[in-house]
Amino acid sequence: MLGGDWFGRPTGFGEAAWSVVLVSPLIGSFVGVLIRRLPEDRPIAWERSRCESCGATLGIRDLVPFFSWLAQRGRCRFCNARLGWFYPGVELAALAIAVIAAMVDTGTEVWLDCLLGWWLLALGWIDARRWLLPDVLTLPLVIAGLAAALAFDRAGLIDRALGVALGYLALRVIAYLYRKARGRDGLGQGDAKLLAAAGAWVGASALPQVILIAALTGLFAAACLRLAGVRLGAASALPFGPFLALATWLVWLLPAFQV
Ligand SMILES: [Zn+2]
Repeated sequence: MLGGDWFGRPTGFGEAAWSVVLVSPLIGSFVGVLIRRLPEDRPIAWERSRCESCGATLGIRDLVPFFSWLAQRGRCRFCNARLGWFYPGVELAALAIAVIAAMVDTGTEVWLDCLLGWWLLALGWIDARRWLLPDVLTLPLVIAGLAAALAFDRAGLIDRALGVALGYLALRVIAYLYRKARGRDGLGQGDAKLLAAAGAWVGASALPQVILIAALTGLFAAACLRLAGVRLGAASALPFGPFLALATWLVWLLPAFQV
């Protein structure tokens, strides 16, 4: 405990807050591995990391978050190939999630904020890269949300169980209407399962906010891309998963959205 007054919080930066901030770069490395390997059905834990250029097996000294990358100036120690921004990027995002959670909440809440945030980070990033929301991530997130309700939020359990069913159905209905209107698929099964998972965390009553924020941030991103000169024609689109993931975390984190 610092006893300090972070953003008006009387409790200061507590133990839970420091723990999540300290472990977040390691979690970020793991999330990076998930993002790379899950869509390709590669083993997650039982395969040593290798340089993607020369295939050299990487040791502990190559896998320390941030520091390895900085010490080697973003290059492979063996073949000097550029390692790219991917891993430090995911590690920074995981750290940012922990810092934001620690500023907003205290105690167990911080851990729940981070669990959900890191999970959604993996899902959103995979969807952005591959247009895919793997069932092995979305379905356990539904169960985790209901388990968290059972353990910490009994009063909200019914709302959150209802959120699973309504989240799934709502997105299937939107997808159906979209297909009728545009003559092609805009939203997939994965999006419906992700919104079901969102429902398991924020509850049925907060799902309209999730859909609204996801749609608005998605439109904003499309407008930014257009301003940057990227052509998004009628036949191309952005994956919806990253925006659903962001909206779910914001609504979970900020009670102001949960009317
Ligand atoms: Zn190499």
